[in-house]
Parts: sequence; structure tokens; C-alpha cells
Amino acid sequence: MKIYFLGTNGWYDSETGYTLCTLIDCKDYYIILDAGNGIYKLDEYIKEDKPIYLFISHVHIDHISGLHVLDKFNFKQGLDIYVPAEKRKALEVFKNSPYTKSFKKFNYRVDIHDVIEGENKMPFEFLSKKLLHTDESFGYRFLLDAKTITYSTDTSICENDLELSKNADLLIHECTYKPGLPPSNWGHSTPNQVAKMAKDANVKKLVLTHFAADLYPELKLRDEAEKIAKDIFKNTVAAKDGLTIELS
Ligand SMILES: [Zn+2]
Ligand SMILES: [Zn+2]
Repeated sequence: MKIYFLGTNGWYDSETGYTLCTLIDCKDYYIILDAGNGIYKLDEYIKEDKPIYLFISHVHIDHISGLHVLDKFNFKQGLDIYVPAEKRKALEVFKNSPYTKSFKKFNYRVDIHDVIEGENKMPFEFLSKKLLHTDESFGYRFLLDAKTITYSTDTSICENDLELSKNADLLIHECTYKPGLPPSNWGHSTPNQVAKMAKDANVKKLVLTHFAADLYPELKLRDEAEKIAKDIFKNTVAAKDGLTIELS
């Protein structure tokens, strides 16, 4: 299984990268995590006709702006989008005129489905929990190819975050803030906080992503965050656009 980090910025695109989008290429599916602007690269990676599922954490613009780009693709197998049920209405507005071309007019099928908090059965069994963010976000825990992958953004460290992460083979977690004290209570995390939680949760590997474009204007600042996180939890990587992780 391969995980491609197509966009790793929080808030806006900048020289350091595009807004958030991650692609998991596993045996039976393609799974896309959030639809920031990094999503435009998808056709470089999606070459097979496996089902494609896109999971939205919440509808802040840096997580859905890439929906505007979907008409670039022609996925023969269609696309199924999973969104927290409470955010469904907002997404329905955003994926239509006058904001973008209606999905109904695409050359391929796009369907939207609700995610509920707790155990979900479709399109396969996965767990979702509410996180701690200014506008509620859902974290996800998947079992794919016998590996547990947790995706947690945007959020402060919280009990649900910890529960979703317990013993995960891979934790993909936001790292909006710089090391030290959180500069606001918007609901984001520092590298120190995430590393400590990864350790407490006994995860095997941690990838930090969603680095705020304003707080991390240069990539070397991500290296510094990685170093600080590594002192707390050794198996940490700070993602940059183009990072590929292989999980086997
Ligand atoms: Zn965000
Ligand atoms: Zn957000």
C-alpha cells in the first residue's frame, strides 16, 4: 500500500505546497483524504479502475476547494464522496452553480454519502469520531490491507483523537501550529502535542501534515518541527508535497 501526500499546507497554497489532499492506494480501492488544491495531481496516480472514495473531514475551504477541479478527471468507475452528515447541506451548495460546475454535468458519476459518528458500514467498515475544531471536523480510522490508518485533521488533541489513534500502524495528523504554545484556541495542534499523543496512543508511525502556510513559510521550518517531534516520538515524518510512504 502506498500513501501519496499531494497537498500538505493548511489554510492556503504557497511556495511550500498546496492545500490538503492525501491519496491512499491500497489493494482494492483508492482512498482520498480531503479535497484541498493538491487534488489536481490525482490523475498522475490513479491509473487502475479500482473504486475511488473521497473522505471529507470538514468543509473549511482548504479541505474542499479542490472539488472545483474534479471535472478535470474522467473516472470511469465514478467517485463516491463521504462527508460528515451535518456538513452535507454545505457541500451540496458548494458543488453546484454558481460556485462550480454541477457534479451532475460531469462526464462521470459522482455520488455523495453521509458519514455518521461511530461505526460506518459503507463503503467498508470504518470508524469516525468528532474532533475538537472551531467548526467540527471528523477524524477517521480505517483498516486497509490489514493495516490501521488514522487520519486526524483539523483538531486540537482530544480524547476522540487519542481513541482513533490507538495502536494505529500509521497516524496522519495535522500540525498547523509551530512548536511551543498554541497561538490560539481555533482547534489545531503543535508538533510537540501530536508527538506526545502518538507516543501515548502507541502508534507505529506518525506523519505530520496540514502545516499552516503563514506559520511555516519555508520548508526548513517543517524539518525543525519534525526534529522536535522526533525527540518525543522517534518514528515521525513531516510531510511535504510529493512525499510517498510505503506501508507493508
Ligand atoms: Zn484546515
Ligand atoms: Zn478547519
